Order: sequence, then structure tokens, then C-alpha cells
Amino acid sequence: MTDCLFCKMASGEIEPDIVYQDDDVIAFRDINPQAPTHVLIIPRRHISTINDLQSADAELTGKLFLAAGKIAEQEGIAEQGYRTVMNCNAGAGQTVFHVHLHMLGGRAMTWPPG
Ligand code: AMP
Ligand code: ZN
Repeated sequence: MTDCLFCKMASGEIEPDIVYQDDDVIAFRDINPQAPTHVLIIPRRHISTINDLQSADAELTGKLFLAAGKIAEQEGIAEQGYRTVMNCNAGAGQTVFHVHLHMLGGRAMTWPPG
């Protein structure tokens, strides 16, 4: 998708603050962090929302969580804990329509989320 912000990050057209990448996913720091560690983990391939995921995307989706675990180790927050969130559509607060897993940590989290 040529007009997708996160596709531009995946392609390198825009250079985010990358913390992890492999053949399938890329992870970078959120520009407006809501916690000391706030990373966005995205598939390199464009998928707009959770509603657009197909069965064939199951492995790719799992890789987002595997990346979150690796990044938590890197950031030193694996043991204390962190939160992963994926917003789907505007009602849940999704503003960038390329699926992304938020990973937040480094502070106490409250429940329920707002
Ligand atoms: P969501 O509201 O779930 O769609 O999350 C989108 C996230 O993307 C927000 O937390 C934004 O702060 C973040 N964001 C928007 N533009 C950028 C950017 N250029 N670099 C890094 N993060 C961004
Ligand atoms: Zn995209």
C-alpha cells in the first residue's frame, strides 16, 4: 500500500527507531509513547485490521507475539511484565490501518484499559 505509513516504515522509505526486525515483522518505538517502553510490532506485509486476517496469516500473527517476547527480554521487562494490545477499527482507537501489536511496559499497568 503506497499511502500506508507503516508500509513505508517496513520498506525503509520512512526510518523509524527500529528495535527488532526479521523477514516477516518489524518493530519500532511509538512516536507518542504511553509507557517507558512502547513498541509497535507490525507484519511487513500490509493487513489493514484484525478483521482482514485470514487463516493463512495465523503463523504471521503468532510471530508478532514471538517478537514481543524477544523485545521484552531486550528491554529488560520480561519478568516484571508488559502489556500487548491490538486495536481493531476506530471504535477501539485504531488510527493506523496496518495491523500493529502495541507492546507497553516499564510501568505498572491498570485494568480495565480505557
Ligand atoms: P493505533 O491508535 O492503535 O492505531 O496506534 C497507532 C500508533 O502509531 C499510535 O500509538 C501512534 O502514536 C503511533 N504512530 C503514529 N505515527 C507514528 C510514527 N511516525 N512513528 C511511530 N509511531 C507512530
Ligand atoms: Zn501498510
